[in-house]
Amino acid sequence: MEIKSAKFITSATNISTINLDDYNQIAFVGRSNVGKSSLINMLTKNSKLCKTSATPGRTRLINYFLINNNIYFVDLPGYGFAKASKSEVANWQSMIEPYLINNSNLKCVCMLVDIRIEPTDQDKQMLKFLNYYQIPFIIIATKCDKFGKSKIKPQIQKIANYLGVGSSNVFPSSSDNGLGRIDILNKFDQFLE
Ligand code: GDP
Repeated sequence: MEIKSAKFITSATNISTINLDDYNQIAFVGRSNVGKSSLINMLTKNSKLCKTSATPGRTRLINYFLINNNIYFVDLPGYGFAKASKSEVANWQSMIEPYLINNSNLKCVCMLVDIRIEPTDQDKQMLKFLNYYQIPFIIIATKCDKFGKSKIKPQIQKIANYLGVGSSNVFPSSSDNGLGRIDILNKFDQFLE
């Protein structure tokens, strides 16, 4: 897909309270600070669309962006912030699970992992959850500009093995140099058909 327009629509803590058009959705999820906001900005070529932050855990809302006037990109709150209390984790679950379950407009979840860091237990749990509810997903390995060029491919294979998915489902990316942009957007087309 080519992105011609992207605009912020709304933020929500409770999805039942918002009114959206009946468009397909692609969601983004991952550990706080993994580079989710930066990736959405990179894909849309709009550096100001999604607020980025060097402080983990600040984006605790579901944010909707309208792409090309007919698709929503949905930025889900990050998980695994170090300082989260039990109630914050419960809060996160109560926000995200109703979004993911029984959402017929949801065509793909992009689960982000940092190429430099071994996927965490929470990443594995998220994947289990997506598999259990048969939600289509891809893995996006972020911050590849911080990783040796020649090491990216073997690391992608390592992440794929670790998570038990095919390596063609793991996409290297960099918000710094745009790596992965075309491949990821082309992949979205398959889910949106
Ligand atoms: P989020 O919490 O997952 O939304 O993460 P952000 O997009 O706010 O990014 C967290 C930090 O990582 C910020 O300081 C970003 O500038 C940085 N970052 C994100 N993506 C990349 C990337 O691809 N390359 C580099 N070098 N830094 C990145």
